[in-house]
Amino acid sequence: MKPSLLGQKPQGIQIDLSKMPQYMCDCGGVVFTKIHEVRLLPAIVSPSGQPMPVLVEVGVRCVSCNNEVSMMDLQKEAANTTANDVGASSKVEIVKD
Ligand SMILES: [Zn+2]
Repeated sequence: MKPSLLGQKPQGIQIDLSKMPQYMCDCGGVVFTKIHEVRLLPAIVSPSGQPMPVLVEVGVRCVSCNNEVSMMDLQKEAANTTANDVGASSKVEIVKD
């Protein structure tokens, strides 16, 4: 299975995952777990009529040192990544539907 960079936009550009720069924690760790805020939705406003917890993804946590990195910081890191960093000049394929 070939991973797609833009999971939510399947008509987009496909880039080899192995060519994408890896985000690294200050400690050198490269494995992260997702972290969530949990919001509580009472039954009275719930679409299902049932009270329910809502998980909001707020970032990731380094499994090595427990350092938290917010989604905003991750987006800034991604914004600093250039097409050359992902080998896009030779690897990009435009997918035609
Ligand atoms: Zn770390």
